[in-house]
Amino acid sequence: MRALFLILGCLVTTPAIGASCIPSERPPANHPSLAALPDSYWTGLQAWSDLPPGDRALLARVSIVQRDVRALNPHLTFSDEVPRNVVPLRTAPDQEFVADGAASLDALVLAARLYLRDRGSFYVSNGFRSYAVQLETWPRNLEKYLARIRADLPPANAKGYSDDAVCALRAYAGSHYAFPGYSNHQSGRAADFHFRAGDAPELNSDSGGDNIARWCKSDIYGWLHRNARSYGFIQAKIDEPWHWVYDPGAAKTSEADRVATSCQGKID
Ligand SMILES: [Zn+2]
Repeated sequence: MRALFLILGCLVTTPAIGASCIPSERPPANHPSLAALPDSYWTGLQAWSDLPPGDRALLARVSIVQRDVRALNPHLTFSDEVPRNVVPLRTAPDQEFVADGAASLDALVLAARLYLRDRGSFYVSNGFRSYAVQLETWPRNLEKYLARIRADLPPANAKGYSDDAVCALRAYAGSHYAFPGYSNHQSGRAADFHFRAGDAPELNSDSGGDNIARWCKSDIYGWLHRNARSYGFIQAKIDEPWHWVYDPGAAKTSEADRVATSCQGKID
């Protein structure tokens, strides 16, 4: 049983996705994401300048593939604009949220605190994040998972990492972080929740360790699943139990039943 678990664990961390993740066509050169973030932006990125050339090339390819996959999806819109209609949250004055959803988010947080009573502190750790911050975060997050790719799918020859390595890293990054220009934090409509109780490990917005698993089985996640929809919030299409999106229209439909992939079957 343990062996089977380990095998499955391996498949989860490095999905057996072949070169199929690499688009066979290029997006139009005038697509706004190609204009804002051309190939040269990624191949010359200063943030990766200390890495070996092969690793730099891998991270640039992953970013270019992710940019192109997004650009080729007609349902997605790239934006490098900063919304002006964000306001500070009353329950977390250092965080901002889109003006039409801020009161609902504050009401949700206050209701969750009532439910939790004195069992710990619950608050929004991340609301609106600007395009500039997203742009800075993506390369840093991508670099965090290099070690895993180096270990599982090292460069086979002088040509560098394989397409499988590109696709494995893209699949992982793509399910955890929005590419710059596509995050709903950037629109001001996403909130990351945070829970802390005494000396127990906090529930934060880190995809590493057992944080996701602990979120899934926590009382507060069950409460959010049952109640967030009545405040207009739904679980985002990414595997982050702490990440919720203000979408009052979708909250009235079956979209509101969605749970983070890792939490499926683990909550009431
Ligand atoms: Zn988030």
